[in-house]
Amino acid sequence: VTRIPRSHPRYRSLVLRSDLAEKMARGVVVPEGLMAHGRGEAFDYLLGERSYPEALQATRAAAARLLLAQRPVLSVNGNVAALAANEVAALAKALPSLKVEVNLFHRTPGRAEQVAEELRRAGLRTVLGVHPTARLRGLPSDRGWVEATGILLADVVLVPLEDGDRAEALVRAGKFVIAVDLNPLSRTARAAQLPLVDELVRVLRHLKTEVVRQRRFPRRALATLAASVDGPELRAAALRRISARLEALAREDVRERPSKAR
Ligand code: ATP
Repeated sequence: VTRIPRSHPRYRSLVLRSDLAEKMARGVVVPEGLMAHGRGEAFDYLLGERSYPEALQATRAAAARLLLAQRPVLSVNGNVAALAANEVAALAKALPSLKVEVNLFHRTPGRAEQVAEELRRAGLRTVLGVHPTARLRGLPSDRGWVEATGILLADVVLVPLEDGDRAEALVRAGKFVIAVDLNPLSRTARAAQLPLVDELVRVLRHLKTEVVRQRRFPRRALATLAASVDGPELRAAALRRISARLEALAREDVRERPSKAR
């Protein structure tokens, strides 16, 4: 294992990558998951690696949606379990109505169990989706498998790092879809009624804080909060943030260039 010096300017990112590579060796993450992570990192870089105000408001609205839901489900894939098992368990503890279901793009029975085990190790008692019994309409192959008492019955589904096809199928099935996806251009972010264009771990931590804060709010206040954001506007806000940041960085770069080189 390569030792990463703490002084490295991208220490956290390198530690995460090394952790994901190790979890790939254990079968929790697949090689495709590493590429998805790379795409996420690139967008986070562009967004400044911080949750910007519109994203924070979107997460507040998501917390309200989850508190209002009758049967909320959080869908977990390999990357989510690898990156944020502790945060998933903490959110489920704060919101007892929330079911957690393993939902894999690259499914094998062994892998589903590995992902579930990762969540159990983090303290989650019940994990659905290891032996799914129902199918989501419009999704061929293994990707359509869901749990009859979980996603199939859910009214609100939180889908971090999801693929576009499945997000679309969930919306067609009448679910309210909250996506977590740093790419505001992805089909997932476009399909979801509530796209959270922000980093998974930051979102889950903030979501938990908000669930705890909003727990005693009257339903009317929750409904107002839930309706305070609009999907297309949230994606547009992310694009504006990226654009403004790049403009500012480009100006800085020009200013910093030694005058001779200009
Ligand atoms: P789509 O099918 O929705 O168009 P895609 O082909 O990009 O999207 P995937 O390859 O499954 O879908 O990628 C998953 C998405 O998750 C990517 O858009 C990536 O930006 C995002 N992502 C990866 N890591 C994180 C993270 N830690 N937090 C938030 N989003 C992430």
